[in-house]
Amino acid sequence: MTSGTAAPPADLSDHRRHIAPHVMVYLFAFVPFVALVAAVPLAWGWGLTWLDVGLTAGFYVLTMLGVTVGFHRYFTHGAFRARRGLRIALAVAGSMAVQGPIRHWVADHRRHHAFADKEGDPHSPWAFGTSPVALVRGFWHAHMGWIFERSLTNQRRFTPDLLDDADMRAVHRWFTPLTVISLGAPPLIGGLVSWSWWGALTAFFWASLVRVGLSHHVAWSTNSICHLVGERPWSARDRSTNVWLLAIPSMGESWHNLHHADPTSARHGVGRGQLDISARTIWLFEKLGWASHVKWPTARRLERLAARVS
Ligand SMILES: [Zn+2]
Ligand SMILES: [Zn+2]
Repeated sequence: MTSGTAAPPADLSDHRRHIAPHVMVYLFAFVPFVALVAAVPLAWGWGLTWLDVGLTAGFYVLTMLGVTVGFHRYFTHGAFRARRGLRIALAVAGSMAVQGPIRHWVADHRRHHAFADKEGDPHSPWAFGTSPVALVRGFWHAHMGWIFERSLTNQRRFTPDLLDDADMRAVHRWFTPLTVISLGAPPLIGGLVSWSWWGALTAFFWASLVRVGLSHHVAWSTNSICHLVGERPWSARDRSTNVWLLAIPSMGESWHNLHHADPTSARHGVGRGQLDISARTIWLFEKLGWASHVKWPTARRLERLAARVS
């Protein structure tokens, strides 16, 4: 998307944030997360079983990959081609993450890239300015405040491909039933395996509620934290960053600076030791013959994308 003869993008490192708002960003992002993790040993033996842990992990991985590999790298950016079965499976798994129907998700995200950190970006933490107060407000807006906006991104403009696709129209329409399945399957399995109502209840709490809450915050952190703090080794035209701390829970999505520098790349964690579980999954799909034309990064391309040190 071009913006005509607008002024060149702002310098990426024209100022440093004060320490107080910097600490706030970390507190907002990680305290609820740590509390959630701390709740696990506290609940052990009282309302948490190995079955709950397994169900939580299983549904977390399935639905997160549905979003990161499916909604994001495949549907939004076309990082690879997928056979019909995989295409539908990814759309279904992504919908079960309960982050909105597929066309809403993809339209918002394509718009984010078209206007990244500029006017028109649906969730930039820099939307209100650079003062400490503006950044706290911006963090909230980018993390989850924007979700409460009532005006929806124009699907005719941003997702004409999905509107033309009968399979995807069906998955989009099925968002509510898929949400019910996503929340209902864990207690069903937990109840049947433990053969108790209590087992169904704890599975619902952990593998439905906590799992969706956790995956929401991790996904939202890509919009908030990964545009605020972290490293910028790549020449993206926005304020996107790499945040190693989130690499595993985000399935590789927190190598977000590389992603903005090269949006169609199937791998975001391109550096040594930069774990990218989504890229590994795409690699597996390719080996199985389900995915093809995968846009893997090449050394020459990465050289061109490396940030120019001034
Ligand atoms: Zn971004
Ligand atoms: Zn993207």
